[in-house]
Amino acid sequence: MTRSGQPTLREADIRPDKLLERYLELCRQDAARYFPEHGRDDVPCPACGKDDPVRAFSKDGFAFSVCRACGTLYQTPRPGSDVFVRFYRDAQSSAYWAGTFFPAVAEARRTKLFAPKAARVSALCAESGFNPETVVEAGAGFGIFLDEWRKLHPQTRTVAVEPQPDMARRCEALGIETFQGFVEDAPLRGEADMVVAMEVIEHVREPLAFCQSLAELLRPGGRVLVTGLCIDGFDLRVLGERSRAICPPQHINFPSVAGYEKLFERAGFEDVAVFTPGVLDVDIVRSALRADPCILNGQPFLEELMRKDDATLGAFQRYLSDNRLSSHCWVWAARSGTRGGDAQ
Ligand SMILES: [Zn+2]
Repeated sequence: MTRSGQPTLREADIRPDKLLERYLELCRQDAARYFPEHGRDDVPCPACGKDDPVRAFSKDGFAFSVCRACGTLYQTPRPGSDVFVRFYRDAQSSAYWAGTFFPAVAEARRTKLFAPKAARVSALCAESGFNPETVVEAGAGFGIFLDEWRKLHPQTRTVAVEPQPDMARRCEALGIETFQGFVEDAPLRGEADMVVAMEVIEHVREPLAFCQSLAELLRPGGRVLVTGLCIDGFDLRVLGERSRAICPPQHINFPSVAGYEKLFERAGFEDVAVFTPGVLDVDIVRSALRADPCILNGQPFLEELMRKDDATLGAFQRYLSDNRLSSHCWVWAARSGTRGGDAQ
């Protein structure tokens, strides 16, 4: 158990090696099948909007750059929207995620991930003096977060927005009001008190449009919680392109803390709070070291650090989480009274 009394989370609990490797293999096959090299456009930073990239690396046929203005890592030149729609609808990696990977870890995720998340979001609401009556989840997956939320707040109207048909059916089977489709098309304009989108933003081709769509579901003053990957975090900074989280075409956006702040301000939010409650950075680097003991060669301080005992590494992980240095990031923000513009 952790100091907060929640069950200890390990990467293998939610991403078992065998399943993850198979999923990544399918991602690589899909990348070659669905994403031709032609027809890609240079895009500005999807977080801050500035067009000042420095080339970082290529992985599995996709080039990545870092924004000099805000430090966000992002995939560019980027394939067109139609290619992504076809990919998410038809790709074998997406089908494997929905049909094999997620079902295998669903209950572990319920206990170790979604129930603690629901409790933490509930605490955030309480701290903000906020009592949402309608909660919408964009990219609801199997509906487990909303199911856990209802246990804490049985009076809430919960709505799942989920484009993948099998997963949308799972949400319906739980008795959750469900819209099968993309958030841009959800018929809930201004109805939601709170919109949640977990681990979606790293996937979307146009993060600004996605965040604006979340804002449009909210009443003025309603709140959004978005979780995603953050390039300022320890495991992403240490592992770089070797990180298994950098898996195009699934994951293409890795905003920095500053990038997240700018993105949500541009999308029409205020009171934007960015924090990184992630707990897996050290475990992820440790797993990478087990797979390749040479991965930290040339970085003696990190090699020494990763040999420390569990208590020391646990304290280090808490330091990362408390100081916006974990790669798992949360953004908590309020929709502005008047719609924000796309200011640079
Ligand atoms: Zn930027």
